[in-house]
Amino acid sequence: MRNSFIPPERILMGPGPSNVHPRVLEAMARSTIGHLDPKFIELMDDIKSLLKYVFRTENEVTFAVSGPGSVGMETCLVNLVEPGSKVVVCINGVFGERMKSIVERCGAAPIAVEDEWGKAIDIQKFENALDANPDVKVTAFVHAETSTGAKSDIKTLAEIAHKYDCLTIADTVTSLGGIPLLIDEWNIDASYSGTQKCLSCPPGLSPVTFNDRTVEFIKNRKTQVQSWFMDLNLVLGYWGSGAKRTYHHTAPVNALYGLHEALLLVKEEGIENAWDRHKRNGKLLVKELESIGLPPMVKEDERLPELTSISVPAGINEAEVRAKLLNEYNIEIGAGLGTLAGKVWRIGLMGYTSKEENITTLVNALKNILNN
Ligand SMILES: *Cc1c(COP(=O)(O)O)cnc(C)c1O
Repeated sequence: MRNSFIPPERILMGPGPSNVHPRVLEAMARSTIGHLDPKFIELMDDIKSLLKYVFRTENEVTFAVSGPGSVGMETCLVNLVEPGSKVVVCINGVFGERMKSIVERCGAAPIAVEDEWGKAIDIQKFENALDANPDVKVTAFVHAETSTGAKSDIKTLAEIAHKYDCLTIADTVTSLGGIPLLIDEWNIDASYSGTQKCLSCPPGLSPVTFNDRTVEFIKNRKTQVQSWFMDLNLVLGYWGSGAKRTYHHTAPVNALYGLHEALLLVKEEGIENAWDRHKRNGKLLVKELESIGLPPMVKEDERLPELTSISVPAGINEAEVRAKLLNEYNIEIGAGLGTLAGKVWRIGLMGYTSKEENITTLVNALKNILNN
C-alpha cells in the first residue's frame, strides 16, 4: 500500500510558484460540479469581471486559459501571428526567448530586439526595429522578466508600437497583482498572465485579455489559427459572453474555484494596496540583504519588487546554499537561468509570500549559512 503524498511546508521565495493563500486551498477542495452547470457559468462570469478588475480593463474578452502561463503566451501568439508574417520580439531574458521560439513555430519570422539580461528593454532599439521593418504588424515584450528581475516600460513600448500601427502582446505573468499594470490606460492590445506568481494561487491557469481591435485582427486572419485548443474563435464559444455556452474542453473546475477566491482576495485588499505591499516588501528585502553584503543585480529604477536577483558572492557554492535553505530552513529560492546560471540567486516576494516575516526568516537563514 502506498501512502498519500504529504508535501512539506515550504516558504516559497523563488520565481514561482509562490505560497498559496489558505482560503484558495480551501476553495479548491470543494465539491466538483459540471463545467456547464448554470452555477459554474455564474462563477465563470464572476471570474471574468474580477479579472477585468485586476487587469484594469473593460475588455470583454478577458478570461482564464486552461493551462499555465506558457499556454497563455502561446494563445496570444498563435492567434495573432500568421505564417509568413514578421513579429518584433524583445528579448532581455528567458521569457522573451520563449516568445521568439513560439513565433518561429507559428511559421513567422521573429525580429529580435536583444538587450542585456538584467536590464529593461531599450526603447530606442525597439523603435529602430519597427522603423526598419514597416511590414511588421505584431510586437511582443515582457513586462516583468522573472529570469532576471528587470521591469520594462511597457506603456512607452505600446505607445511606440501604435505609432507604427502595430499590435502589442505583453507578458504580464509576474506583474499582474504585483506592480502597477493598466491594460486600458496603457493601450496594451493582448496580454497573458499566470496564477502562481503574484495572485497567491497554484499554477495551472493563465488569465488573458484582448481588446476589440485585437479580436477584429484575429477575425480577419487569412489563415486558420494553427492550434485547435487555443483558437480564440472556438474557446469563446465556451468563455464568451451572451451566446449560449457550448462545450469546448472540460474546464479545470476546482482550479477555477481557486482562482476565483484568489481574485476575491486581491479585490478585498484593493489592487493598489497589493501593489504597495509588494513595493514595500521588495524595498525591505533589498535593504536587509545589502546589510549582510548581498547587493541586488538590477539597478533601482528597473528593479522588480516581487523578484530580486542578487549576485552570488565570490567563493560561495550557490547550489549548496540553496540546498541548505531548502533542507534546513524549508525555504525555496531560485537559481539563475541561461546566461545567469550559477551567478545569481532569485528571490521572490510574490502574492501571499510577500510579507515581512518571510523576509526576516530568509535573511536570518542566509546569515547563518553564509557565516558558517
Ligand atoms: C513564469 C513565467 C512564464 C511561464 O509561466 P508558466 O506558468 O511557467 O508556464 C512566462 N513569463 C514569465 C515572465 C514568467 O515569469
